[in-house]
Amino acid sequence: MSHVFPRHTKSELPVIAAGDGCYLIDSNGKKYLDGSGGAAVSCLGHSDSDVTAAITRQLENVAFAHTGFFTSEAAETLADLLVENAPSGIERVYFVSGGSEAVEAALKLARQFYIEIGEPQRHRLIARRQSYHGNTLGALAAGGNEWRRRPFSPLMIETSHIAPCYEYRDRMEGETPVDYGLRVANELEEEILRLGPETVMAFIAEPVVGATAGAVPSVEGYFKRIREICDKYGVLLILDEVMCGMGRTGTLFASEQDGIAPDIVTIAKGLGAGYQPVGAMLCTSKIYSAIENGSGFFQHGHTYVGHPVACAASLAVVRALLDRNLIERVREKGERLSDALHTAFGQHPHVGDIRGRGLFRGIELVEDRTTKRPFSPAQGVNKRVKAAAFDAGLICYPMGGTIDGVNGDHVLLAPPFIIEDGQIDELVGKLDKALSAI
Ligand code: PLP
Repeated sequence: MSHVFPRHTKSELPVIAAGDGCYLIDSNGKKYLDGSGGAAVSCLGHSDSDVTAAITRQLENVAFAHTGFFTSEAAETLADLLVENAPSGIERVYFVSGGSEAVEAALKLARQFYIEIGEPQRHRLIARRQSYHGNTLGALAAGGNEWRRRPFSPLMIETSHIAPCYEYRDRMEGETPVDYGLRVANELEEEILRLGPETVMAFIAEPVVGATAGAVPSVEGYFKRIREICDKYGVLLILDEVMCGMGRTGTLFASEQDGIAPDIVTIAKGLGAGYQPVGAMLCTSKIYSAIENGSGFFQHGHTYVGHPVACAASLAVVRALLDRNLIERVREKGERLSDALHTAFGQHPHVGDIRGRGLFRGIELVEDRTTKRPFSPAQGVNKRVKAAAFDAGLICYPMGGTIDGVNGDHVLLAPPFIIEDGQIDELVGKLDKALSAI
C-alpha cells in the first residue's frame, strides 16, 4: 500500500522512470509524448543538459543560503536578465517557489503599496470569471472558477468577478471583435464605480487564460482598454503569466502581444521548465520605490524565496530561451501546430473552436458544432479524453467546466518548445485517435 497522498485516491498511476526530450517513459518502458508539458511546464523537454549542469554547479558550490542573510549570484543575474527583457517599467523581481506563491506575493504587494502611499482604504480585488490563479487561499479567491472555489469560499477574501474575454462563446452576432472587447473591458469600470474607486486595489487577469478555459486569448484592444481603466482609477494591473508567460505564446511575456505593460506580473511554470519548483513576482520601480521610501520592508517571505538552485536552473532556462532562439521557434512551431489542428479537427463534428497563441493551443469540445451545445458534464468527456490519450501514449491537459465552471470541455496543448514537425503530427494523430475512441 502506498503512503503517498495522491491527487485522486482512486487512480492507479504508472511510475515515472525517465525523461527524454519531448517524451516521458514509465517504469514499464511505455513512452508518452508530452503534449502539454504536464501543465504547460516543460518548455525545454525532459533532458536539457545545460539546465542539469547549471543545477549541479550550483549544488557543488552551495545549495541554500537564507535570503534574510545572503543574496546569491544566481538570483542577481536572473533578476537582471528578466528585467532586461520584461515589459517597460518592470524593475524588481521577487523569487518564490511556484505560481500560487507568486500570486499571493502580488496580492500582498498591491495591498502594502497602497498602505505605504497613504491609501489604506484600497483593499478590494477584481478578477474575471473562468480564470485560475492558483490554489492557496488568496490565489483561489482571485480565481473565477466556481467549482474550484465553492468548498473553500467561507475562508476566502472577498473578490469581484467580471466577465472573461471569451469570444467564441460571448461575442454577440453582428458585434465586431473590437466592440465585443470594449464591452467586456468596460465591465471593469462599472465594477470599480460600483465598489467605489477609492477602495479598489487591483485587477488581476491572465493575458491568455489557461487551465480553466483552454488557451483563450483576448480580442484586439481589450487589454488596452483595461490598462486605460486601471490608470484612470489608480487601480494596479496584475497580469498572471504563470502559465502563458516565458515564451509559451511566442513572446517572452505574453502581454507584449496585447501592447500593454502591467504594474505587477507573475511567472512560474516555464521559468523553471520543471527542473526546479520556482516562480517570480515582478513589479515596477514605482511600486518598489513606495516600499523603499516607506517602511523599507515587504511584509512577506517564505523560507525558500530566492533559492539558489531554483534561480540557477531558471537562469539556464531563460538563457536557453533567448540564446537558442526558442521563442522564435515557438511562433513557427505554434503555427505548424495550429495548422495541423485545423486540418485534423477543423470540420470535426465535436470540435467547436480551435484557439490560442504560439505553442499554447486549446480545442473546445461540443456536442453540437452549430449550436455550440456542450456535452452533459455527466458524460465526463474531458476525463475520458485524458485517459484515452494517455492510453495512446499522449499527455494532454483536458478540463471540464470551460464555460461556467460546470459545463463545457476543452483540451489544452502546450508541448515543449523543442518539438519537431514529426512530433506535432504524432501529437495530433494520437489526439485524433483518443477523440475517436471516446
Ligand atoms: N496562475 C496561473 C495562471 C496558473 O495557470 C497556475 C497553475 O496552473 C497558477 C497560477 C498556480 O501555479 P502553481 O500550481 O505553480 O501554484
